[in-house]
Amino acid sequence: MIFRSLCREAEIGSNSYLIDTGKACIVLDAGMHPKKDGLDGIPRYNLLEEDSVDAVVVTHAHLDHLGSLPIVLRDQPHARAFFSPAAAEIGVAMLHNSVNVMQSQRIELGITEYPLFTHRDIDDLEKKFEMRGIERPFDLDPEGTVRATFHDAGHVLGSVGVTLKAEGKTIFYTGDVNFEDSTLIKGANFPEDHVDVLIIETTRGDNPRRADYSRKDEEQALGESIAKVIERRGSVLIPVFAMGKTQEVMTMIHRFKKRNLIPRKTPVYMGGLSTKMTVIYDRFAKGKTRRTDDSFHILEDMEIEAGTRRRKGPIPLNPGCIYALSSGMMSEKTVSNEFARHGLLENPKNGLFFVGYTDPDSPGGKVRNATPGDKVVMDPKHPAVPFNCERKIFDFSGHATRDDLLKFILKVKPKKVFLVHGDPRATAWFAAQVKELLPGTEAIVPEPGRDYEL
Ligand SMILES: [Zn+2]
Ligand SMILES: [Zn+2]
Repeated sequence: MIFRSLCREAEIGSNSYLIDTGKACIVLDAGMHPKKDGLDGIPRYNLLEEDSVDAVVVTHAHLDHLGSLPIVLRDQPHARAFFSPAAAEIGVAMLHNSVNVMQSQRIELGITEYPLFTHRDIDDLEKKFEMRGIERPFDLDPEGTVRATFHDAGHVLGSVGVTLKAEGKTIFYTGDVNFEDSTLIKGANFPEDHVDVLIIETTRGDNPRRADYSRKDEEQALGESIAKVIERRGSVLIPVFAMGKTQEVMTMIHRFKKRNLIPRKTPVYMGGLSTKMTVIYDRFAKGKTRRTDDSFHILEDMEIEAGTRRRKGPIPLNPGCIYALSSGMMSEKTVSNEFARHGLLENPKNGLFFVGYTDPDSPGGKVRNATPGDKVVMDPKHPAVPFNCERKIFDFSGHATRDDLLKFILKVKPKKVFLVHGDPRATAWFAAQVKELLPGTEAIVPEPGRDYEL
């Protein structure tokens, strides 16, 4: 049995991994690189034999795990695609949105191979998606030689880690994981029994969390910061990813209002794709997924502006409002970018609050590192804008801390651990820790394309 990374590089990008047992071929995740264009952004599917794959398991609907699924399934007509029910629904919406983005990039950036797949392809694929609940074992190949079980990964709605049992061995793949409860969704519920092989994300390996952090205090600090901006008749922009962060932030705002930390009548805005995602989040309340408040429905229980109706031009910037708009990195041509350029950044009364990761090269990353008074280029096609508003950075990461990940490795004591989904410094930290604390375990940063015997 072998493990092979199909990623382009050892990094966070187009995640995809192969387990070949000799009797069955299983692909774990089928990502698309968020920063690379065209075919450079897809995994090394040329390393898969044509029509050899029995199953593709998608751990969650972020594009770095899902975005190239239509492409791998095109070459692998007999492969079945397995999801948790919530990940399948979100996944379809994410893939359709990805087609729209590729279509506009084809025009604007002249990337002629775009779109890599069409809306029609997704409609056809969707019928083939197979949904499996958590903690319910199922077969991945027709002969039943590989058995899989999903476990809640606590990262975003529908995210799972997966146990594979094959050839007398147990393999566990975490996907993206968060062990702590978020505001809306609960932390991971992973089995802690011994495994032979662990494939684990290492996103925050180079990024220790400050010792005095508590999520409760962080939420309180965000609430108080919003309250101050509203009080001085400014507006708050919180750049968020449409799926995950939007719903977490909305749940926080709902709680701030209930506790009268911010005025109950404060208008709250969200953008188009976020609304679509929130509809799905709400559909999976009431016992369908693990969450902190089962009966809370974001769209029913909160009065949210904007909604699904299509707007012409930018969302109006009114004083005393909260705007939770995507994208989280404030990428060019997204609502949060346009909104920041049209008056938010330049007014010292306003607040720009980051709640998640931003790539340093992204427009969001640039504002994050800018000095007040600087002019910031948010979009090269538009003039630079003066950055005068209040800026704060909060930590509501959807990824486990490195200490929690390490604790998990120590509990399951794998014979081999593959360190994936992290930059070189992140994987190096884990490799060093494992070497010291679990000398019997082999820690491997898998070289893309190389076969590792399991
Ligand atoms: Zn993710
Ligand atoms: Zn990821």
